[in-house]
Order: sequence, then C-alpha cells, then structure tokens
Amino acid sequence: MTTNKTDKNWREKLSAEEYRVCREKGTERAFTGKYYDCKDEGIYHCTCCGASLFNSDTKYDSGSGWPSFWEPMPDAVTTESDNSLGMRRTEVLCQQCDAHLGHVFEDGPQPTGLRYCINSVSLKLNKK
Ligand SMILES: [Zn+2]
Repeated sequence: MTTNKTDKNWREKLSAEEYRVCREKGTERAFTGKYYDCKDEGIYHCTCCGASLFNSDTKYDSGSGWPSFWEPMPDAVTTESDNSLGMRRTEVLCQQCDAHLGHVFEDGPQPTGLRYCINSVSLKLNKK
C-alpha cells in the first residue's frame, strides 16, 4: 500500500521541520527531539501517514540523543543503502509512504543487535 500524496500535499500537511526530515531526508539535532528520552508506553506512528512503526517495548536508551529501537513492527519499514556524506549507512523508511525515518546500525542490544536511530519528528507516539 502506498499513499499518493504529492510533494505539495506534504508541504501543506507537515511542519517545516517535519518536511525537512521526512521528505528531504534531514536529521534533527541530537538531544533536541521530543522522544529521545521518552519512556512512555505506546505505539510510535509515522508522522506522515500514521502507519504503526515501533512499539515502546523495543525502545531503549542508546545515549545517542535520538529515539532508538532494537526492532521495528512487522512489515513497517524498509531499508536502503545510503552513501551520502561520505558514510556507508542504511537508511530506514516508512514502508507505506517512504518517509525518511532515520538509519539502522549494527551496534544495538540483543536480541537483534540492531539500533534503529530514528528522528523524533518522524514519529508520533500514541500512548497506551
Ligand atoms: Zn509513513
């Protein structure tokens, strides 16, 4: 399933910061997002399309300054290799609307060993 919103629709729907991060692959500054130290329980949804992306059960404090998860919800995200900024990274995108969410690294905790490093502005927490 994909949304068919045009670029103009996204500009109208999103704040300037949300647009910059989600649609232009920007990154919010570390320790400035609203969720990096959030411990509330619930489901994190995509800011753009509302899809369920991460469960707070898989969130942990990585010390990076961004919300970090060791596992996304089933069929929630896609990944793509990203060689921008002279770095080899793996980009994480919303499977439903291709919103840029963040990057995934292989230095996370068990059981997955993965660290999904996600921008707060890409997420909207629905508390339990
Ligand atoms: Zn989405």
